Amino acid sequence: QGAQRRIGVALVGLGGYSRDLLAPALQLTRHCRLAGIVTGSPGKIPEWQGKYDIPDGNVYSYDDFHRIADNPDIDAVYIVTPNHLHKPQTLTAANAGKHVWCEKPMAMDAAEGEAMVKACRDNRVQLTIGYRMQHEPNTRRFMAMAEERPFGRIIKLRADAGWFGFRDGPSDAWRTKPEFGGGAMYDMGVYCVNAVRYASGLDPVAIRAWDETARRDIFPDVDETMRFLLEFPGDIVAECTTSFGRNLNTLQVDCERGWYVMSPFQGYEGNAGRASDGTVFEPQLGKTPRMQAEQMDQDALAILNNTAPRVPGEDGVADMRVLDAAFESARNNGTRIE
Ligand code: NDP
Repeated sequence: QGAQRRIGVALVGLGGYSRDLLAPALQLTRHCRLAGIVTGSPGKIPEWQGKYDIPDGNVYSYDDFHRIADNPDIDAVYIVTPNHLHKPQTLTAANAGKHVWCEKPMAMDAAEGEAMVKACRDNRVQLTIGYRMQHEPNTRRFMAMAEERPFGRIIKLRADAGWFGFRDGPSDAWRTKPEFGGGAMYDMGVYCVNAVRYASGLDPVAIRAWDETARRDIFPDVDETMRFLLEFPGDIVAECTTSFGRNLNTLQVDCERGWYVMSPFQGYEGNAGRASDGTVFEPQLGKTPRMQAEQMDQDALAILNNTAPRVPGEDGVADMRVLDAAFESARNNGTRIE
């Protein structure tokens, strides 16, 4: 009967993703409600309060956000800020006794991710990462196929994620700055890493990575394009490319006796795909932002029922370990890192 109650969610950072996807998605959920906001932009407050009926007492700045501890309206805090803020804000929320939903990439590196997992464990709150794909039906089918192996042994995976953006220079400043966790690898390469892990059911044992940035004028300090090769146990390999300079959105799994592919594999409207035996994977979730609504409902049910979330913090840490190794390899021109 716990599931009758709605989880009160506070969004931290009222940028593009919160405004255009998560706040509208919260209106579609069955187990959540948008209860509060945390923002560094006072100018955004009146519109958000008006649109979503948020009382004054549930509006916070980054400086007084720790006071959320005293607010029984808010059960979970959803961190949707630039990447360098994910760790400190997770610690603040966890220490305030609130469950944490954190956007990808979970942190700047694995050590930060581990500290976040520990803080949430110590405070007995859940930590889940905003990998919305893991709530998408076709992706869940692919995850099951990693176990079922319908075409025999997996031999090779490919995951490419990118978009041709920033044509007119950096409109979205933090995504081009290293100190904010900018660059394609943090932004979208992390989807490739998560995808080859969930599509194989395995963690990689080695990586080689190359920074292939073409437009250094636009990206002087971060990677525009990264290519990386992962080795998994059992001679399985994965080839990945992520880029701010190319439109890419494919996850392919090649097996002994066939293949299956999703393209897009990270679409807002749900993923579509097919397999070598003629199977077609039709998009199933419906219009944007149904995917985000499904994600938040699942994460709310985990809180209400006190069960493990689908995408625990540890899943994000595993990806951060791969990113750490990828950056180290790329700095050393593709050296193999175990
Ligand atoms: P935006 O730049 O659109 O918004 C970020 C917001 O964070 C800002 O509007 C601001 O909100 C707040 N903020 C706090 N400090 C800073 C700072 N120093 N510089 C800039 N903004 C700051 O980013 P997105 O909404 O696109 O991305 C936010 C997070 O969500 C990222 O981690 C990103 O990876 C993730 N994301 C995930 C997606 C997914 O599909 N899962 C899709 C898009 C993004 P305020 O003014 O309220 O303080």
